[in-house]
Amino acid sequence: MSIKSDQWFSEIFGGTTAFSFLFSKKLYESKSHFQNIEVYETPALGRVLILDGCFMVTEADSFIYHEMLVHPAMATVGNAKKVLVIGGGDGGAVTEVVKYPDVESCTLCEIDPMVVEVCREFFPHVSSGLNDPRVTFVNEDGARFIQQFKGEFDVVLVDSTDPVGPGEVLFQEPFYLAVKESLRRGGAAVFQTESPLFMRDVFVKAVKGLDGTFGRDHAKPFLATIPSYPGALWSFTLCSEAFDPAHQKTRTLPPHLSTNLNYYNPEIHFSAFALPQFVRKMLAG
Ligand code: SAM
Repeated sequence: MSIKSDQWFSEIFGGTTAFSFLFSKKLYESKSHFQNIEVYETPALGRVLILDGCFMVTEADSFIYHEMLVHPAMATVGNAKKVLVIGGGDGGAVTEVVKYPDVESCTLCEIDPMVVEVCREFFPHVSSGLNDPRVTFVNEDGARFIQQFKGEFDVVLVDSTDPVGPGEVLFQEPFYLAVKESLRRGGAAVFQTESPLFMRDVFVKAVKGLDGTFGRDHAKPFLATIPSYPGALWSFTLCSEAFDPAHQKTRTLPPHLSTNLNYYNPEIHFSAFALPQFVRKMLAG
């Protein structure tokens, strides 16, 4: 839901808060089979992608989200070869994955092909990785696509919208189990698990569901600040039966990464898993 004046766009969150930006131009609007898609040019955030009235990608801060969705898992698993991204039609997660020369294949399973087309056109930098020859597209429901794989992937990244509409199934335990079964031994999965501040119940339910699926202490939430998302404090949950990402031995960034990352590094990795008291308390409840 959103309120638009002739110069401002607002995402109304929970009917009680608004996150707004001034825009200089609306570059695109269309309705796909799944959602309403808008792109704005803004002085503060660069270009902004809106799906069904919600902030999805901004040129100004999406690098934080994409680097934190991808690199903790890639660092934890180490020389991942086969990667699956579910959702992520903006291409930002894929662009981070293909920065690893050891990756042999990266499959993008995005239910809405129109999102990919729009982001290729309006967010060429964010979506640049989609042109990598190792990338394969699948326009399907990720909850259905994942069912066919057992022990297949080194890393699965779930870059979904909120748990509404087509995204809802990606927050349910049958999907979590299917992701777990699709991983090879030693593999890891990361799920975007919303805001512990503004979506406390969704966050707690997701982390507990993942903990129940991957095994006690094998689902580790971590945090990053994404200014354009409601409440800015955002969570991801890294699930691995083989590794504890929060206590991995300190890894240095491979040289090919240290030059082309703008947020993630080993210190950020470890600090992200250090949860504030209010988050620890809500998960202990
Ligand atoms: N970073 C954003 C966030 O945290 O909200 C998500 C970005 S990405 C644009 C989210 C994508 O998930 C959308 O393009 C949407 O079409 C896709 N999606 C939603 N449900 C899906 C499903 N069941 N299977 C595959 N893709 C799905």
